[in-house]
Amino acid sequence: MTGTLDVAIIGGGAAGIAAARYLIGHRRSVRIIEALPRLGGRAFTRHIDGLPLDMGCGWLHSAERNPLAALADTLGHPLDRRESAWSKQLGNIDFSPEDQQGAWNAFESLKNRLRETPPPGDRASDALPATDRWRPFADGLSSFMNGAELDQLSAEDFLAYEDAASESNWRLPEGYGAFITGLGVDVPVSLSTRVRSVAGDKDMVLQTDQSVIRAAAVIVAVPTTVLARGDIRFSHALDDHLEAASHLPLGLADKVFLTMNDPDAVPPESHLLGRTDRAETGSYYLRPLGRPVIECFLGGAWARDLERQGPDAATAFAIEELTHLLGGDFARGLSPLITTRWAKEPTIGGSYSHALPGHHAARAVLSHPVSERLCFAGEACSAHDFSTAHGAWQSGIDAARHIETYLAGAHA
Ligand SMILES: Cc1cc2nc3c(=O)[nH]c(=O)nc-3n(C[C@H](O)[C@H](O)[C@H](O)COP(=O)(O)OP(=O)(O)OC[C@H]3O[C@@H](n4cnc5c(N)ncnc54)[C@H](O)[C@@H]3O)c2cc1C
Repeated sequence: MTGTLDVAIIGGGAAGIAAARYLIGHRRSVRIIEALPRLGGRAFTRHIDGLPLDMGCGWLHSAERNPLAALADTLGHPLDRRESAWSKQLGNIDFSPEDQQGAWNAFESLKNRLRETPPPGDRASDALPATDRWRPFADGLSSFMNGAELDQLSAEDFLAYEDAASESNWRLPEGYGAFITGLGVDVPVSLSTRVRSVAGDKDMVLQTDQSVIRAAAVIVAVPTTVLARGDIRFSHALDDHLEAASHLPLGLADKVFLTMNDPDAVPPESHLLGRTDRAETGSYYLRPLGRPVIECFLGGAWARDLERQGPDAATAFAIEELTHLLGGDFARGLSPLITTRWAKEPTIGGSYSHALPGHHAARAVLSHPVSERLCFAGEACSAHDFSTAHGAWQSGIDAARHIETYLAGAHA
């Protein structure tokens, strides 16, 4: 590649794509440099058995104010606006209506206590004793929502998300990942190209494993795990930003997709929680969008353990829990389709960021531009929509707007 770009964008996930589109809209020359052989990062739809299945993001959270929902609507992509079944238990199996009410009330009380009497150390688990009957339930929920149990969570950070999120969660039947990746179709991109270092003063110089790329400005839109690990070397003084990234690790959520011989055995759009007496359990979405599949969700320390146990461990565990819930005859009709292992993805290393106790402010540090020509983007930079695709998207636009202000001044 010859010549100097206006902006080089490291990372082709939702944040990188949003930044690129914004700058192209302002007639800037840009290029995304992406380590994987595809765009999208954690937004990734795979077509299996003719079904578009989202390996990463699937729900357009806070849908009525989600910029990607608005964009999908404008561009004519059908949205499924049905309410999710997450908080329901099909047939009240192993979870009586009284216990469901008790468990959800306990989770709401936990949030209220965190608001009204925040724990001095900012550790969310300090507001719910380990001996509380509903502590395993709350830890399980946290492992799905945050990719980590309550003892790993900053209470302030957790509430920042909770208090800003709405109840509307929509889906894109074509796949959220496919939609986001499609938005990057016209963006110049170098795939299978890993950035090793960023240096320079007048021009920024990016050393990749393929070549050298020069740009007037750089947006770094890679996951916090990658930054904290030091995968990219910077010649700039970035200690604060890199330390902030280390306080915003990616938690883990993995999915197992199973097909069913007899889809009519369970109603479409229904849900089961594996267990309520331990956090090491799965959340099972039965026949999402009416499809003949079960989308199993595993989170936190237990998902990490299952990844460590080997490629088939999560599938075996999900089938075991479904056997317990729905019986052996039903479970014998299940066949594995695909299992994600996000912690093992070398240039991603997890699912979504959470702030460690005492470190909610790390998001503001990370998102603060390093200079007029260098800044970070990505879901972890969002003040209250972190861990989501739309938070990543908005962070990319914010970073691009900052760089555009500099470029507009420099070229004036
Ligand atoms: C299982 C799962 C379920 C989820 N469910 C939802 C959901 O329902 N709704 C929702 O809104 N969000 C969900 N999310 C979260 C959402 O997918 C992410 O928050 C969002 O996609 C992150 O986008 P990003 O651009 O910040 O980062 P990424 O998508 O991770 O993009 C960063 C890119 O940087 C690349 N990279 C890293 N290092 C380098 C390097 N050295 N050189 C070049 N490239 C590099 C990576 O390969 C990656 O592609 C889910 C995620 C997972 C994993």
